[in-house]
Amino acid sequence: MLLDTGFPGDTRRIRRVMAKAGISPTQVRAILLTHGHIDHAGNAAEMKTWTGAPIYAHPLEQAHLDGTHRYSGAAHVCGILETVARAITRYSAPKIDVALIEGQILPFWGGLRVVHLPGHTIGHCGFYSQRHDLLFTGDLWARVMRRTQISPRIFSDEPELRLESMRKARAIGARWVVPGHYDHPNAATLRTRFERLCNDVERRDRPRVV
Ligand SMILES: [Zn+2]
Ligand SMILES: [Zn+2]
Repeated sequence: MLLDTGFPGDTRRIRRVMAKAGISPTQVRAILLTHGHIDHAGNAAEMKTWTGAPIYAHPLEQAHLDGTHRYSGAAHVCGILETVARAITRYSAPKIDVALIEGQILPFWGGLRVVHLPGHTIGHCGFYSQRHDLLFTGDLWARVMRRTQISPRIFSDEPELRLESMRKARAIGARWVVPGHYDHPNAATLRTRFERLCNDVERRDRPRVV
């Protein structure tokens, strides 16, 4: 399966990586999207045509894919960036073929569990592989520019849901935790960073006694 598809124009990179791994397009059984932002769904339509695989995403993400989602609050910034990115690239909106449901076990990788982690977007989903004890957390948190951070407000449709989603992801207790954006491809390091971030977020959330 292909997990997210990058920014429009990244297809050459995807094809190169797949060729290196010896995977032909017809071997791809599914295109899974954590959410509908353009840096994740940018090539989903093209990848679907190339591989023939169906697109799996939470149904609430279709508006993001179509560019019809109404951004509010600080996420207006994200809305502007999305509009500009759509205008300057050859993005084509994909249609969700299979709607993801919380807790559903997908028949890939020996069973891949859908973990609904709203906050960044409302239909944002992670995926947990029991066989590999590995959790993909999408954009719930990220390691960008040498900073580990929870999805920033300007990129979050429902910022107040982020903490609960962090707790839910942490409670799985996966051995490996891999976000959508990171600078160091080492799942053990990423897991340590995730744990530290969870502790920081919890500390900040604790009510202060004055
Ligand atoms: Zn995103
Ligand atoms: Zn992203």
